[in-house]
Amino acid sequence: MSDKPMPRPNADSAPFWEACNRGDLIHQRCRACGHHQFYPRAVCANCQSDDLAWAETERAGEVYSFTVVQRAPTKAFRPDAPYVVVLVDLADGVRMMMNLRDCEPDAVHIGMKVRIVFEQGSDGQALPQAVPA
Ligand SMILES: [Zn+2]
Repeated sequence: MSDKPMPRPNADSAPFWEACNRGDLIHQRCRACGHHQFYPRAVCANCQSDDLAWAETERAGEVYSFTVVQRAPTKAFRPDAPYVVVLVDLADGVRMMMNLRDCEPDAVHIGMKVRIVFEQGSDGQALPQAVPA
């Protein structure tokens, strides 16, 4: 399992991954226009201001879309297949991609209520995961 790809934080995303390791889920909020965004970027996607702050993210949301992965992309994922990857619309208006855990692939549906938990990756990085609410 240890050869699953893990996040490689950069200058923009490092605060997000560090927060995950503390058990916090965060996203960026623009101080200039109030826009909330995820994934982390150097500037606001709405007004291009670089006056961005980190905000706590609601850990409740719903499935915007999903896919059921039947054929693992690499050998490391074979024990997991079939598994579900979801796009989750969180209450703050940001959308995040993650795995859906504790749910049979046949049971996932668009609009399904989920909450976010953390799972420890093979390198020790905490990874946000969705579970049914
Ligand atoms: Zn802005």
